[in-house]
Amino acid sequence: MPVLVFDLDDTLYPELSYVHSGFRAVAEFLSPLLHQPAETLAAGMIAEEAEQGRGQVFDNVLRRHGRWTKTLVAACLRHYRQHRPQLALYPDAERCLARFAAWPLYLVTDGHKEVQARKVAALAVARHVRHAYLTNRYGRHRAKPAPHVFELICRREGVPPGQVIYVGDNPRKDFVGIKPLGFKTVRILRGNYAHLEADAAHEADRRIYTLDELTAEFVAELVG
Ligand SMILES: [Mg+2]
Repeated sequence: MPVLVFDLDDTLYPELSYVHSGFRAVAEFLSPLLHQPAETLAAGMIAEEAEQGRGQVFDNVLRRHGRWTKTLVAACLRHYRQHRPQLALYPDAERCLARFAAWPLYLVTDGHKEVQARKVAALAVARHVRHAYLTNRYGRHRAKPAPHVFELICRREGVPPGQVIYVGDNPRKDFVGIKPLGFKTVRILRGNYAHLEADAAHEADRRIYTLDELTAEFVAELVG
């Protein structure tokens, strides 16, 4: 039976919802310090992120209130990273995981390992997959595009790479490392990379708009 492996951020849930959840946690922390309602602070951070990205959000909210210090910026970052997020799977992700419940399913995700572990817990995906591989646990050099954890999956399932399908959203790193080894790849067109044009080496074997397109027939055709 083919093995289905999913990326996490922007594949199974919208990553921006994590960012917003983190802003709300930081707003709760800053509220008594800045004498502002948390909701107002959170709304300001969310609006700024939409316009200018997330890079300077904590610096700017502190600056606006005349309270910028390196220590407070670091404290904001700590609250952001350590908060328990409130997240929900994309509805099509929920349906997909249910549809393939009897199949060997896995998760492979990069990023800060404690942060990713809290996302996995918040989304309750552990009950859907045989294992959630947080690549950071194996060292930074094992992050995508490195194929290391994908090879662990092959060994664990006793299947060749041609029987393993990876579904991800980021053509910069999700497919380029594993395609030469024979893994099958599916790109879901959503999130920050939806409009990125990738060259042949970085592009997936198939492109889909929703996980509803991932059916047993689709998989059978892909793995041949
Ligand atoms: Mg992703």
